[in-house]
Amino acid sequence: MTTLFYTHPACLEHDPGRHHPESAARLHAVLDALADPEFARLERREAPEAALDDLIRVHPRQHVERMLRAVPRSGHVGIDADTILSPASGEAALRAAGAVVAAVDAVMTGAADNAFCAVRPPGHHAEPARAMGFCLFNNIAVGALRARAAHGLGRVAVVDFDVHHGNGTQAAFETDSGLFYASTHQSPLYPGTGSASETGLGNIVNVPLRPMSGSSQFRVGVRQRILPALDAFRPELVLISAGFDAHKRDPLAQLLLDEGDYTWITEQLLEIAYRHAGGRLVSSLEGGYDLAALATSVAAHVRVLMSV
Ligand SMILES: [Zn+2]
Repeated sequence: MTTLFYTHPACLEHDPGRHHPESAARLHAVLDALADPEFARLERREAPEAALDDLIRVHPRQHVERMLRAVPRSGHVGIDADTILSPASGEAALRAAGAVVAAVDAVMTGAADNAFCAVRPPGHHAEPARAMGFCLFNNIAVGALRARAAHGLGRVAVVDFDVHHGNGTQAAFETDSGLFYASTHQSPLYPGTGSASETGLGNIVNVPLRPMSGSSQFRVGVRQRILPALDAFRPELVLISAGFDAHKRDPLAQLLLDEGDYTWITEQLLEIAYRHAGGRLVSSLEGGYDLAALATSVAAHVRVLMSV
């Protein structure tokens, strides 16, 4: 039984500027937590760069080329008010998407049971033709479409428990009945999408949670809305947009989850993966901005992945 762990030093070099919450310190905190002897059994891999062919299943080729051309030789360039590029951002974004592609390949070929990708920039706000919300390319959507194109899957599900709605993933999936997207998120909150009435072709499930919602509201929403929809969809691969900013200590939002909730949701999604997908599951880091809470929450998540 093997859990793969993908990351790359370039993901530490991406620098959106001083005082930006999406800092390299986040990834350092994750790497420190997973350096504990408890995680020695993780099989650590360097994330490769995503190929253009993988990116353009989600993003128009001109958009990908425009993003990579926008990367500055020095200093910073803003794509929008909070999506900022530094000289290392192009490689970091390619490695972030490439990590999920490589993890999907490894899990689909049976080289591992599941995988966690500790990457930045995150991806779930990146729409097909628009980078936004700290995200350049939609890492998890790129992985989902890779699974279909390279491994012949008919049904791939993404579950997103980041505190923000993954507008980009929803935009990439909502007209494609072979893809499924479910999200729990705080509402109202950035980016403003993700109402329960946004259902796509019946393949989108949004569970908005009011500010100050905690464990019980989260678990009821998952149990009543998301798990039954996943069972009905019968995914052949389960992908997770694993953001940890719904933690009660997170400074960017007002939900009240804790490490126990991340253990619980990971157990639920692994069960779905074993029921329908031979256990195949790939998780990729999205948000999480309190460094201590991020570290302990990722540890809780990965501990469950390694427990199978
Ligand atoms: Zn977030």
